[in-house]
Amino acid sequence: MSERKYRRVMLGRFRRQPRAFPWRQTTDPYAVLIGEVLLQRTRGEHVVEVYRDFLDRWPDPGGLARARVSSISSVIRPLGLAKRAPMLKRLGKALVEYGGEVPVDPADLARLPGVGPYAAHSVPVFVLGRSLPVVDWVIARVLRRYFGLPEGKRPNADPALWQLAARLAKPGKARELWLGTLDFASSICKPRPLCPTCPLNADCAYYQGA
Ligand code: SF4
Repeated sequence: MSERKYRRVMLGRFRRQPRAFPWRQTTDPYAVLIGEVLLQRTRGEHVVEVYRDFLDRWPDPGGLARARVSSISSVIRPLGLAKRAPMLKRLGKALVEYGGEVPVDPADLARLPGVGPYAAHSVPVFVLGRSLPVVDWVIARVLRRYFGLPEGKRPNADPALWQLAARLAKPGKARELWLGTLDFASSICKPRPLCPTCPLNADCAYYQGA
């Protein structure tokens, strides 16, 4: 396993074949944050329509804070997230109290309703390109397999995973690194991985140990 090789493969992949999602094509922190909240349990392809509808209706924190919970619920129901509607309204209100802006520091973001470590790091990385770790279940799957880290723990309760991700992000291009990892996870290192075609297979702990 090589951290340098991992970065090279993921950055190359993102450069050649980036997936185009609307939350990747904005630098509006609010739009990025809403994308991350809606993506928490669902594949990107299924979120696009709901995401656009959501931002058409509530394009800023003030609109979200004033929205009816039942309206939010009906918009996000197709994603199986209807129960999160009250949380999203609370998120809008918290952002209004914050001055109508989305903070860009992970510690400030993590205090907002419904914002866990992944989303709290995603906004500064995906909006500002900061060199920070970003780890959700999908990124955890790839890192654990290639680097041979133990499975099982929730990513948020796995400091070794976050420490590895911090080292990988430190040299820069963290946005491209993590988006490349997400794309790689969706096309090659899937739940059933396509190891024989993988550019990392020569020294992947999972493949070599299998
Ligand atoms: Fe994932 Fe297989 Fe590639 Fe390892 S060799 S990174 S398990 S696809």
